[in-house]
Amino acid sequence: MTQQSVIQSGDVVHITGARPNFPKAAPVIAALAAAGVAQKLIHTGQHYDEALSESFFQILDLPKPDLNLGVGSGSHATQTAAIMVGIESAIGNSKPAMIVVYGDVNSTVAAALVAAKLGILVAHVEAGLRSFDLTMPEEINRKLTDQLSDLLLITSPEAKDNLEREGLGDREIFFVGNSMIDTLLAHLHEFDEKKIASKLNLDGDYAVATLHRPANVDELETAKDIVSALGQVSEQTQIILPLHPRGKESLMQAGLAKFDQIKVIEPLNYIDFISLVKGAKFVITDSGGVQEETTILKVPCLTLRPNTERPITITHGTNQLVTVSDLVKRVANLSPVKDVVPPLWDGTAGERIAAAIIEFLGRK
Ligand code: UDP
Repeated sequence: MTQQSVIQSGDVVHITGARPNFPKAAPVIAALAAAGVAQKLIHTGQHYDEALSESFFQILDLPKPDLNLGVGSGSHATQTAAIMVGIESAIGNSKPAMIVVYGDVNSTVAAALVAAKLGILVAHVEAGLRSFDLTMPEEINRKLTDQLSDLLLITSPEAKDNLEREGLGDREIFFVGNSMIDTLLAHLHEFDEKKIASKLNLDGDYAVATLHRPANVDELETAKDIVSALGQVSEQTQIILPLHPRGKESLMQAGLAKFDQIKVIEPLNYIDFISLVKGAKFVITDSGGVQEETTILKVPCLTLRPNTERPITITHGTNQLVTVSDLVKRVANLSPVKDVVPPLWDGTAGERIAAAIIEFLGRK
């Protein structure tokens, strides 16, 4: 099958590229399938490792992509350009009804830009989140994607204020909840903290850490400070760190492997990872998704960043922002976990998103 013939006119086309996209897309694709909507899935291949990509398709019952662009890694420009060329070529002369993009990765903005220029409607799942930190590549992707989107599907109420502030108040904005949390709730019965503890030979309390944001892992000096703080934390509580390829080189060079009480492992598949988090005493992270997942799992989350685009995980969740110099103290003084859940993080966001898409397309 040639790339040009993959997409049929009238299809709703989902674009996924990187690990955080898969748990967000799976419930939307399932809900649209249940409603009988013709759809296609393009995987850009921004993430391509078994652990970061393939395992999610199996575990989350995602359909096999109709097309994998296989773009792989590269500089932002190289990767974004390759995704754009691949998507434009996949669309060819077809007229899809809509392109649905997720989150804030390069695949998100690249696909939105191609679709907007071809006059194809764009829906953005997880619109309106803002860290107000333009040094984050993801913040650039978020802002540009929202500008290019016709249908803005938001996970939390403050996203609407952010969109209005950027002049997007007259676009179609729907507060639909969080489809990533749908995925978490749908798999709740599969998370087994005892099983993963035994698989990893863990005994007693432990914390989980994940780090991959450029601001934390790109500069060796910063990586060294973080590694040293983690080393101190590990003197009290053993740390398990599934290491994202993005931070591997600098964190290892910064001496991560030299601490007995820090267990560095490969990225885990989704079920193993959430099982591990569920059993953790606390989590140290710079991930966006993990701030949300810990909120639902009621596991204290220390986010090693100066800001978050997900402030609702602080007001309605277990999250707090920490600096490297503060980390040890904040771990020692963890606050009790709040018993509140963000509104509409209820396991049915996928259905609300599907309904919003169908209703919107019906009017066009
Ligand atoms: N995750 C995983 N295995 C791991 C680490 C994370 O399955 O070893 C999952 C996590 O549960 C969440 C997603 O990956 O659903 C978050 O992705 P990531 O932290 O890479 O991206 P971000 O959310 O920061 O954009």
